[in-house]
Amino acid sequence: MKNFPKISKVESFIISIPRDTPYMGPLGPGESINSRGYLVRLGNKSIYPDTDQSVLIKITAEDGTVGWGETYGIVAPSAVTSIIDDVLGPVITGRDPRDAVVIQEDLYDLMRVRGFFGGYYVDSIAGVDIAVWDLFGKLVGQPVVKLLGGQRMTSIPAYVSGLPGSTLDARLELARDFKARGFNAFKYHSAVSFDGIVTEMRTLREGLGSEAQLMVDLHWKFTAQEAIQLVEQLLPYRPYFVEAPCQPEDIEGQAHVGNNIKVPLALGEEWRTVYEYRTRMERRSMSIIQPEMGHIGISQFMQICRMANAFHMKVIPHASIGIGIFQAASLHATAALPNCPMHEYQHSIFDRNLKYVKTTMRCEAGAFVFPEGVGLGIEPAESVWQFVKKKESV
Ligand code: MG
Repeated sequence: MKNFPKISKVESFIISIPRDTPYMGPLGPGESINSRGYLVRLGNKSIYPDTDQSVLIKITAEDGTVGWGETYGIVAPSAVTSIIDDVLGPVITGRDPRDAVVIQEDLYDLMRVRGFFGGYYVDSIAGVDIAVWDLFGKLVGQPVVKLLGGQRMTSIPAYVSGLPGSTLDARLELARDFKARGFNAFKYHSAVSFDGIVTEMRTLREGLGSEAQLMVDLHWKFTAQEAIQLVEQLLPYRPYFVEAPCQPEDIEGQAHVGNNIKVPLALGEEWRTVYEYRTRMERRSMSIIQPEMGHIGISQFMQICRMANAFHMKVIPHASIGIGIFQAASLHATAALPNCPMHEYQHSIFDRNLKYVKTTMRCEAGAFVFPEGVGLGIEPAESVWQFVKKKESV
């Protein structure tokens, strides 16, 4: 294997796909879209684009084989493409794609002394890492999951994430529609829970029956004591888990909630490295982790999730705004794990963007259908290139 193809070119692209209704549903009271196409959800004070925006990474090997990656480009995507184009791409040119984990570790090391061990820098590494794994799989003719230790699952149970609708009745109706199609696990977003968090869970429990699995994303809105009090009120409706009650900086608050409620606590969508997870794992802050592939990449994802298994924690991966490439990577990684009962299904993004990728990946009858083929089993379709957005200088 002396002449195994090396990485010869790394490119990045910003994709911005228009949508009729913003992510999480219609604008709430006092919410508006600004001149840059962003809106702030007043319920969780977070900024979102009014399009489906992400960053694609294309890595070409010496023999012309192409690997695809994707990462977060939700806001300021040019920050991500600048890091990839200026720093990461040139550093890994000439490297052997079979060294995927080593490459990820080397890229992480580059900026540690300058304090860049999170945020946009690690998002950029994540997208490159996913593309390197896809290229590795294609060059050796194997699905990525087979390179990650083996495949346990070919179908991955999915929970319906978000019930966008302008009224509670409309949201319950949407959940019932999914139930009729074979889904039985639902999570609603407290940032747009305009009728109240307890009222919404009661309505869903009464409307969906005793067997449904119900979850709520608390969107970092509460102090520890407020969260404990709120979860107590949800107990009669038997939540399967509650998510993200306290602000991410409040490590002690998270642990306090996790150790004082009678419902599994799920945390982690905003953390990017094993180091951020480790401090919470040691405190037993949560019993479910929610790693986001778009922030983490495959190499870190596997390390974090296998460590979670050693702490007897479950993995229910997060799903975010993208065209499906980091979602496919998340399914490959998840399929190799012993401790993953289900994966988030971001239906309002996932389904509409499937037409912009070539893949057998689907989500139907309550589960993700695994993407077939070598590498990640997914590539951008020709139709996605109409949505390329110009990079800006940063
Ligand atoms: Mg969340």
